[in-house]
Amino acid sequence: GSRTYSFMIRTKNPCGKVSNQLYLTMDDLADQFGIGTLRLTTRQTFQLHGVVKKDLKHVMGEIIRNMGSSLGACGDLNRNVLAPAAPIVRKDYLFAQETAENIAALLTPQSGFYYDVWVDGERVMSAEPPEVIQARNDNSHGTNFPDSAEPIYGTQFLPRKFKIAVTVPTDNSVDILTNDIGVVVVTDDNGEPQGFNIYVGGGMGRAHRNEATFPRLAEPLGYVPKEDILYAVKAIVVTQRENGRRDDRKYSRMKYLINSWGIEKFRSVTEQYYGKKFEPFRSLPEWEFKSYLGWHQQGNGGLYCGLHVDNGRIGGKMKTALREVIEKYNLNVRLTPNQNIILTDIRAAWKRPITTILSQAGLLQPKYVDPLNVTAMACPAFPLCPLAITEAERGIPSILKRIRAMFEKVGLKYSESVVVRITGCPNGCARPYMAELGLVGDGPNSYQVWLGGSSNQMSLARSFMDKVKLQDLETVLEPLFYHWKQKRQSKESFGDFTARLGFEKLKEFIEKWEGP
Ligand code: SF4
Repeated sequence: GSRTYSFMIRTKNPCGKVSNQLYLTMDDLADQFGIGTLRLTTRQTFQLHGVVKKDLKHVMGEIIRNMGSSLGACGDLNRNVLAPAAPIVRKDYLFAQETAENIAALLTPQSGFYYDVWVDGERVMSAEPPEVIQARNDNSHGTNFPDSAEPIYGTQFLPRKFKIAVTVPTDNSVDILTNDIGVVVVTDDNGEPQGFNIYVGGGMGRAHRNEATFPRLAEPLGYVPKEDILYAVKAIVVTQRENGRRDDRKYSRMKYLINSWGIEKFRSVTEQYYGKKFEPFRSLPEWEFKSYLGWHQQGNGGLYCGLHVDNGRIGGKMKTALREVIEKYNLNVRLTPNQNIILTDIRAAWKRPITTILSQAGLLQPKYVDPLNVTAMACPAFPLCPLAITEAERGIPSILKRIRAMFEKVGLKYSESVVVRITGCPNGCARPYMAELGLVGDGPNSYQVWLGGSSNQMSLARSFMDKVKLQDLETVLEPLFYHWKQKRQSKESFGDFTARLGFEKLKEFIEKWEGP
């Protein structure tokens, strides 16, 4: 008989911006050609699973004609650029989002093959800002930009995928330090954007039983004035293009280049392409995780409403209700890096009817969403990802319930929470190495346990135990939660607690455990 090949299509949506028209198109395509659900990703995009080969051209054409794209969503080039999803009308937020869109445009492949294949050559995307075109083609700043159809990627593209996030001070909704490049808007005292702090060299992916692969936090590179940001990004990308390892894909992310060179050498080589020196990093306030859930003012008279989506999976009643309000009120939406969705530009008069529709579908009842679920993330894993070693998305609901039960048993209140992230393999798509409690599949029904990330995602967790069987999670976690409850300093988070005590002490708790 003939085989049916099925594909996953991932879109590209800088800042997670999704127009009304594109949302409704994706919603239809999921029913007609996918598996009836939409998956929001940790990079503010959609994944449409289960599209069979004969339908690919039609589905891709529909996405592109409705102002979506999948160009650069996979492959050895710049992936979707993250930025805070909140539609807050404030200079720094708007500037972060505009910068993310400009960086995305700067690093979009120039060859027309994409449109040739999917929409018979018709170029649907709108025009790029002149400063983006200028920055892409301007070679006066440094050396070694190729004179080819791809002025930045050259003939070989990059050694590996490349990830960029842009944000504003305090808002770490984008997991800024997990990116190859993290860009932070710096403003003056009046809130006027002046320039950017740039971090480089973050990345999550690693392999089991290979200590030479590791997750890494991005570190400070320097500050650039706002008019130079595209040139600085281009210089960093070209430094990686020319020097990143191409002999072994396991070591080809930019984090390994920076790790072997050290940041000083990386900075000085990048400066040759940039044509200037990086200025000293500007000091910034503390970071926070922002979820944007619930109703908020945009600052221009409109309202926005953030909705929690468990693991980014939109299906069933939720899908129907979202479609209804998005269609009826002609709403644009934003996808967050935590796989949630924000409805935007809502008039005050619509708040009540929208609340009614969403509540009837069980959405918008934050009281009934366990705080553990609000920050938790899991990757798709089985049955959708070929790299999966064990369950993640399908397993997380029951794991979170078990964690809540352990909390109750050791006397932790309902309002207490920890950031839990689970992936089916060490590739780390749900960024488990930044979690307070990360579970990384390392065998059938077994996980490596990572501890020590902070609740604002600014420190890296470390690997605590290997091969913990799913059914044995309580033997490891219950003693840890109990001692956290008993010995924490005031308001100390679980991540900070485990980092402070150290792994030896924590292992002792587990060995000596006889129940609360
Ligand atoms: Fe697949 Fe691994 Fe990514 Fe999960 S972390 S989606 S199993 S590649």
